[in-house]
Amino acid sequence: MIELTPRNTTPKDPYPHLLEPLRVGAITLRSRVVMGSMHTGLEERPGGFARMAVFFAERARGGVGLIVTGGIAPNEEGAVYQGAAKLTTSEEAEHHRAITAAVHAEGGHICLQILHAGRYAYNPKLVAPSALQAPINPFTPRELDAAEVEAEIETFVRCARLAQQAGYDGVEVMGSEGYFINQFIAARTNHRTDRWGGDFASRCRLPLAIVERIRAATGPDFLIIFRLSLLDLVEQGSSPEECLQLALWLEAAGVSLINTGIGWHEARIPTIATLVPRGAFAAVTAQLKGRVGVPLIATNRINTPEVAEAILAAGQADLVSMARPLLADPEFVAKAAAGRADEINTCIACNQACLDHTFAGKLTSCLVNPRACHETELQILPTTAPRTFAVVGAGPAGLAAACTLAERGHRVVLFEASARIGGQFNVAKRIPGKEEFGETLRYFQRRLERLGVEVRLNHRVSAAELQADGFASVILATGVTPRIPAIPGVDHPKVLGYLDVLLERKPVGQRVALIGAGGIGFDVADFLTHTHREAEPIAAFYAEWGIDLTFSTRGGLAPAAPQPVARQVWLLQRKPGKPGKTLGKTTGWIHRARLQQRGVQAVGGVEYLRIDDAGLHLRLADGAEQLLEVDNVVLCAGQESLRELEDQLIDLGIAVHRVGGADVAAELDAKRAIDQATRLAAQL
Ligand code: FAD
Ligand code: NAP
Ligand code: SF4
Repeated sequence: MIELTPRNTTPKDPYPHLLEPLRVGAITLRSRVVMGSMHTGLEERPGGFARMAVFFAERARGGVGLIVTGGIAPNEEGAVYQGAAKLTTSEEAEHHRAITAAVHAEGGHICLQILHAGRYAYNPKLVAPSALQAPINPFTPRELDAAEVEAEIETFVRCARLAQQAGYDGVEVMGSEGYFINQFIAARTNHRTDRWGGDFASRCRLPLAIVERIRAATGPDFLIIFRLSLLDLVEQGSSPEECLQLALWLEAAGVSLINTGIGWHEARIPTIATLVPRGAFAAVTAQLKGRVGVPLIATNRINTPEVAEAILAAGQADLVSMARPLLADPEFVAKAAAGRADEINTCIACNQACLDHTFAGKLTSCLVNPRACHETELQILPTTAPRTFAVVGAGPAGLAAACTLAERGHRVVLFEASARIGGQFNVAKRIPGKEEFGETLRYFQRRLERLGVEVRLNHRVSAAELQADGFASVILATGVTPRIPAIPGVDHPKVLGYLDVLLERKPVGQRVALIGAGGIGFDVADFLTHTHREAEPIAAFYAEWGIDLTFSTRGGLAPAAPQPVARQVWLLQRKPGKPGKTLGKTTGWIHRARLQQRGVQAVGGVEYLRIDDAGLHLRLADGAEQLLEVDNVVLCAGQESLRELEDQLIDLGIAVHRVGGADVAAELDAKRAIDQATRLAAQL
């Protein structure tokens, strides 16, 4: 079934497997990279199709072999939320033509993903095989009767036919992540007693009917990808034998490719967050290799050409799916092919501007690439009036400003007080599981070099010096300074700042109280309780979260074996309620679960009374006083803007533009810092 087109490979070719074309049916994919499905929010916006056309065309131009669109519902009740994109009429299909034409003009290929959310639909009209409410949805689905199941199947077929009419090369049938089709497959969610439920073969009748009928309706050359859940990570999920059996049946039913699904949305095991090791689930796809004839696609936490190449070279899969990495860098494949992989803007798996936005109903973008999904309005164009700028501070904001200005043709001098670029990212990357943040610094370092930005490290620049050097415009990106709260005894020797801890400047005792439970408080708690520095991160990750490393259990579950805990930690905040509510929507639960596993006491509604030799004296929410007999108290109480230069520069008649933490410290994150700096530099 797989037909490989031989390609010249030379010793200089670092990614021979990744860049190898693949013939699937009548189509030759130009590389082994599939851009995985992502809902961007453009699908529902006025003018969104024109913007999606530009968005996808950039990725096609960047060398992606096959693009899969965000999930499009085959009917109203299957939409992920009321009013979410669907494809049910010829009129709707016409809108998609802009996308398919733009991708084909770039020599790319694109499939439309058909996504029926079933009981996950945030939609009071939701339907499912059985009337069982999902733990992540307030709505309970209505059970379909047998005639309605038939009608649902026909809507999948209609959707595929309309996709073909719109110029798509194929469809991806979303059969994993716990959505509608997966709900039919698993005993967990299918309690039916008619022909659509019962034993495994009967539960698979619906996906097989969908594939068979789409194949019959669209002809032999139309691609049909089936996203098959190979590891449900929930109780009563499929067994490995059942996954293989279904893959074989799907092949016989006419699928062209099988994509891997890992974990239902209701699973309580992280599958794509930054703490998931790179390529952690490629071995799952590998279980099917050599046992089915159609090409297999590996997924999840594949974010560099090296990881992708290793998976393909090891024969674990025939293609690799990357979704977020192509938000971060549309030129990912082209850079790898040109021997410029060190210029790739790597996805750090933070979810902050992509999935967290999707779940908040906001347009998807990317923390490290604010142009993602904003291609038509955030354009980095050459300047017609080149000028010289000083950028003060080489944190994320200063780096984004300096590079964008230089890219536009301005001359830029970047001043940094410390010995390295990166600002707080140098601290963030020390948190266990956040090592990816270092990739952003490598990317900026390369970009600075390539653009010829003059970087002056170990240089805490003064206003007078900037004036003497003749700078008329300064970008102030000096960041923040940690807040010292006014608590009696805050100058006691047992009090440490979070930088003392994370930069390992001072020793930390066994019993520690953290004042402040924002993102940094949680990170410090993680850092202080973490013990393992294992050589086999994937095995350790599987053990910690309860994933069966032998792939022999139903749903892929095994008893979790939490790592030993290094210290006893209290995580405190003054706000009432449990700490952690402000953490990211799609990652906060992971941080909370991890710290709970490690016995961290998270307490809200406290008043800090004093710190002394005995420890930290508190008043609890119920008014009772408590002494925490701790060795150290670590301040994680937020930050304040550092912009001492601003007034002096203004007095000297120098134009000042503030970005990042230097502008506003409250609720600062790197997403805002990079976005603000890029947008400013695009306009100057
Ligand atoms: P900074 O990163 O603070 O950089 C300012 C730079 O200016 C510094 O390098 C400083 O040395 C330099 N500077 C200051 N004064 C001068 C001067 N006079 N001359 C020359 N140089 C000067 N954000 C997220 O979005 N997601 C996360 O998961 C995340 N995790 C974090 C974890 C930790 C432990 C920490 C500490 C931060 C984390 N952050 C995270 C926050 C993120 O790092 C900041 O929002 C971001 O770094 C702010 O960027 P900035 O450029 O404004 O400031
Ligand atoms: P933060 O999120 O604003 O949290 C500050 C904490 O300090 C809060 O818990 C606050 O709680 C407490 N606090 C504030 N003023 C205080 C005072 N005067 N006395 C005592 N406690 C005080 O800030 P952060 O944790 O320093 O993080 C900085 C930024 O980095 C955040 O905005 C975050 O977006 C980003 N970051 C993100 C992540 C991530 O995973 N996405 C991780 C790390 C950092 P009370 O006021 O209730 O006491
Ligand atoms: Fe990756 Fe974060 Fe960008 Fe999402 S926002 S694509 S996770 S770097």
